[in-house]
Amino acid sequence: MQDGTRLLVVGGVAAGATAATRARRISEGAEITLLERGPHVSYANCGLPYFIAGDIANRASLLLQTPEWFESRYRVKVLLGTEAFAIDRGAKRVRVRGPEGERDLPYDKLILAQGASPVPPGLPGADAPQVFRLWTVSDMDRLALHLERERPRSAVVVGGGFVGLEMAEAFARRGLATTVVELLPTVMGTMDPEFGRCIARELAASGVPVLTGVGVRAVHPAERAVELSDGRRLPADLVLFSVGVRPELELARKAGLAIGPTGGLLVDDRLRTSDPDIYAAGDMVEVVHRVSGRKVRVPLAGPANRQGRIAASNALGLDLRYRGALGTMVVKVFGATAAMTGLSEKAAGEAGLEFGAVVVHRDDHASYFPGAQELSLKLVYRRPDGKLLGAQAFGRAGVEKRIDVLATALQAGLSLEDLAELDLAYAPPYSSANDPINLAAFAGLNDLSGFSPLVTASALKRELAGADRPIILDVRLPAVFEQSHLRGALNIPVDALRQRYGELPRDRRIVVHCRVGWNAHIASRMLQGLGFSRVAYLTGGFLSLLAEGGFDLASS
Ligand SMILES: Cc1cc2nc3c(=O)[nH]c(=O)nc-3n(C[C@H](O)[C@H](O)[C@H](O)COP(=O)(O)OP(=O)(O)OC[C@H]3O[C@@H](n4cnc5c(N)ncnc54)[C@H](O)[C@@H]3O)c2cc1C
Repeated sequence: MQDGTRLLVVGGVAAGATAATRARRISEGAEITLLERGPHVSYANCGLPYFIAGDIANRASLLLQTPEWFESRYRVKVLLGTEAFAIDRGAKRVRVRGPEGERDLPYDKLILAQGASPVPPGLPGADAPQVFRLWTVSDMDRLALHLERERPRSAVVVGGGFVGLEMAEAFARRGLATTVVELLPTVMGTMDPEFGRCIARELAASGVPVLTGVGVRAVHPAERAVELSDGRRLPADLVLFSVGVRPELELARKAGLAIGPTGGLLVDDRLRTSDPDIYAAGDMVEVVHRVSGRKVRVPLAGPANRQGRIAASNALGLDLRYRGALGTMVVKVFGATAAMTGLSEKAAGEAGLEFGAVVVHRDDHASYFPGAQELSLKLVYRRPDGKLLGAQAFGRAGVEKRIDVLATALQAGLSLEDLAELDLAYAPPYSSANDPINLAAFAGLNDLSGFSPLVTASALKRELAGADRPIILDVRLPAVFEQSHLRGALNIPVDALRQRYGELPRDRRIVVHCRVGWNAHIASRMLQGLGFSRVAYLTGGFLSLLAEGGFDLASS
C-alpha cells in the first residue's frame, strides 16, 4: 500500500522512531526519512535518571538504536544533527539545516514528533556551570561529567515532578546532600495532595528534605547557594531545574498549523493536524482525556509511542483512531512507589463532575504471609452511577499492579460494581482473597447506596471548619487514642460501642473513624442499626487524616 509515498518524520526519539519503523512495516515501498537535530536517535530518555543514580551502568544500553540499524533493518534514512526549521506546506517540502548545509526535503506526508523541551528557569544565575537540566543524553553526559570531576557535595532539585523526584533520589544515592524545592503546596501535583505528602515523607525519611510552597529567586554560583523566594539560602554545589516542559511548536507555528486550547498542537482523532498531509504525535500534541473528555497534554512515553504508531498508520493510508489518554503514570521514590491513572479528585472537580472518593489502606498481600506492606489506594468515582474516574496509589509493593488493573478498568469504562466483582489472581504471597481493589469498590458502593456513607479527609476538614461541626467518634483503642487524636473527639472503642452508644447524641451528625476505615465502617453500621440516622465514617481513617494534614490534633 502507498508504495513510493515520501514520508518525512521530524523528531527521532519516542514518537518519531516508532512512526518511522511502523511506516516501514506498513509499506515496503515508501521512502522514509527521519530527521533528528540531536546527535542520537531513538534513545531511552526515561532511563537517564537511572544512569545518574548508578542503576544502569552501561551508557550504551540507553542508546537503543543507531542510524545504521534503521537503515539495515528498516531502510529508514536517519539524518542526525539535522534540524527542520521551515515547512512550505504549498510546495510540500521542509527546509532543513544539517551537516550538509541547508536544503529542502520534499514530502508527501509529514509527521511531526518533536516532543517538548524543559521550561528554562529564567532567573539570575541559571546559566552557571553548576546548573543543569535533564532531558537528553547530552544533558546526562554533562551532568555525569560534572559529578565525576567536581565531586559536588550538595544538590538542590527545583521542581517536584517525576523527573525531579527521580533525580533527587539519584543525587542522594550518590551521596549528595539533596533538597527538593517545589513551588506548589505538594510534590507530584498531578496527584491529590495527600499522595504528594506521602511522597515528601518518603523522601524526607530517605534523607531528602522537601520544601514546598516556595520558589527559587536566584542561583548564586560563587557562593554555591540557591536563594529561595522567602529569602532562605540552600547550599548547592549543583542545581537541577525540572520545572515542567512545553511543546516544541516553533516549526508548527511558523507553518501556520493550528494550536489547541491547552497550548499543544491541535490534532484530530487520527492525529492529523490542521493540514491533512501533516500528522503529529507525542509530547507536542494535545489529546483528549479519555475520562474527562477535555483537551490535555500528557507528556509521557506510552502515549507518545502509541501515537507514533497511529500517526504513521494513517499517514500511509490506514484508518486508526487515537481514543485519548488516561495519564497513567508511575514513579519510584526510594523504596516506595506512587502511581495514578485517570482523574484525581482535583481533576474531577475541575472537570465539573459529581464524584465521590474512597481510600483503603491494606496490605499488598495476605497479612499473615511474610513481607506484607501497607498499600494506600484511592478510587475516584462518578456520582450517582459509580463509574470509575481515576485511581491513585502509594506503597512499597503492589502499587503499579493495582494501577495497571485500574487503568484497564478505566479504558473499559468499568464501574464500582464491576470492580467489586473483579476476579483477580490470588494466593497469599501476591494478594488477599479480596484484593484492595475489590475492598475499595465495596466501600464506594456502600457509600453510593447509603448503606455506609463515608466522608473523605478533605471533606471532613471543611466540615470541622464550618458552623455545624459533627461529633467525631474515634473507635480506636484508648491507648492509641491517647497518643494522638482529633481535638474534641469522643473515644469509644468499636467493641464497647454496643454498651456505650447511649453517650452519643442522636440529633447531631456523627463522623466515626478508626486507623484505616474498616472498624469505623463496622461501628457506623452498628450505630445505624441502633437508630442513629446521621452517621458517616472517615474513609482511610486516621492515616488519611494525617496524610491530608491541617487537622487540630491532641494527645492526652
Ligand atoms: C529524564 C526523563 C525521564 C522520563 N521518564 C519517563 C517515564 O519514566 N515514563 C514516561 O512515561 N515518560 C517519561 N519521560 C517522558 C518521555 O520521555 C516523553 O514523554 C517522550 O520521550 C516523548 O516522546 P516524543 O517523541 O514526543 O518526544 P522526544 O522523545 O522528546 O523526541 C523529540 C525529538 O525531536 C527532536 N526535534 C525537535 N525539534 C526538531 C526539529 N525541528 N528538527 C529535528 N529534530 C527535532 C528533538 O531533538 C527530540 O530528540 C521522561 C523524560 C525524561 C526527559
